[in-house]
Amino acid sequence: MDKKTRIAVVGAGIGGLTAAGFLQRAGFNVMLYEQARAFSRLGAGITLSANVTKALRRLGIEDALVAAGIKPRSYVSRTWDTGEIVYELVFDAQSETRFGGPYLGIHRGDLHAVLAQAVRREIVAFDHRLAHLEETRSAVRLIFDNGRSTEADVVIGADGIRSKVREYLLGTEPLRFIGAVAYRSIFPTKRLNGFAIPDCTKWWGRDRHILPYFMRSTRDEVYVIGVVPQRAWESQDASGQASREEFIGLFDGFHPDLLRVLEVADDVTVWPIFDRERNDKWSGGRVVLLGDACHPMRPFMGAGGAMAVEDAVILSRCLSECTDLAEAFRAYEATRIARVAETQRISVENSWMAGPTETDWYYCYDVCTAPLARS
Ligand SMILES: Cc1cc2nc3c(=O)[nH]c(=O)nc-3n(C[C@H](O)[C@H](O)[C@H](O)COP(=O)(O)OP(=O)(O)OC[C@H]3O[C@@H](n4cnc5c(N)ncnc54)[C@H](O)[C@@H]3O)c2cc1C
Repeated sequence: MDKKTRIAVVGAGIGGLTAAGFLQRAGFNVMLYEQARAFSRLGAGITLSANVTKALRRLGIEDALVAAGIKPRSYVSRTWDTGEIVYELVFDAQSETRFGGPYLGIHRGDLHAVLAQAVRREIVAFDHRLAHLEETRSAVRLIFDNGRSTEADVVIGADGIRSKVREYLLGTEPLRFIGAVAYRSIFPTKRLNGFAIPDCTKWWGRDRHILPYFMRSTRDEVYVIGVVPQRAWESQDASGQASREEFIGLFDGFHPDLLRVLEVADDVTVWPIFDRERNDKWSGGRVVLLGDACHPMRPFMGAGGAMAVEDAVILSRCLSECTDLAEAFRAYEATRIARVAETQRISVENSWMAGPTETDWYYCYDVCTAPLARS
């Protein structure tokens, strides 16, 4: 496609920043519109598997990601009460070579800050909350809450789980509350009083699970996320506050190694978890979706951000390599839908690493060189 094509990316989250970074390098005329007034260090921990770090290497930010995060020694799955290790995936030089990149734990705010380094500052328009879109035969008009508007040839909706661009493309449909909430806490490791914990452990209960992991190589802070069933989320708020006692009570009977961690957890918050049914319409006219805007998934495989990054790279490749928009969008959907659907399926099942797991198809995948599905 013509490199003068004006591309508007809506949402400077994980997928939007990655898309802007790759499109800018490909020489497109790209602008990124973000509702926030500035980037800030929000959120908690996130894991980045080799399929992601390998992709972000091409933006020149792999070393910065490794410096900001931690390469965990392994991912350990343990049974909730006996503590039996049912699976351990070791991350070492050999696995890094095999997967083609490191596995990282990182604070989401630090990931964001590093991703932002890959995008020229002048192409990011903060305080631009998309209100609606109007498509004509030759362009799309983007209208923002701040009273401004602009025109683009292509609009990429990377505006997350409550996407406005998705509403424009697919109509309004409520999010699906999955019947579970996530309790989260970050606290200084020194509170453990020398009690050593592995870098990343998933404790598997019957109807709940919990993961303590580190987000920095200094291992000075522990992040814990525990997912438990809950019938409904009645509050209008995006999250709520909870007590340490409540958190501990929800994991009553779990192994003492886990309870030692929860006993010193602090500032506990609770978050509803939403997803959507699988959807195979990702584009229409001049508008296309990626990441959570397109396919929000349960966080049980730690793959939502990874899929946003992969979508962004494949979309950028399709726009670069195809001759027109319709062909680019067809190739994008044909390349992505099956892989994302499988990831969504495993996330719903919550089976990733529950026992011996075949990980090569996921971790070894190189989104920058994988063949595009062209009809
Ligand atoms: C508890 C939990 C744990 C998770 N753990 C992991 C993990 O370990 N690994 C992993 O890969 N994934 C994980 N995920 C999933 C991951 O966080 C998401 O899938 C990922 O952030 C999606 O990226 P995105 O770019 O599509 O959306 P986001 O990162 O949400 O970005 C959307 C951006 O759009 C902006 N925006 C929204 N509306 C507008 C608008 N109208 N106009 C302009 N801008 C707008 C937002 O401000 C935001 O900056 C987890 C999710 C949850 C809930």
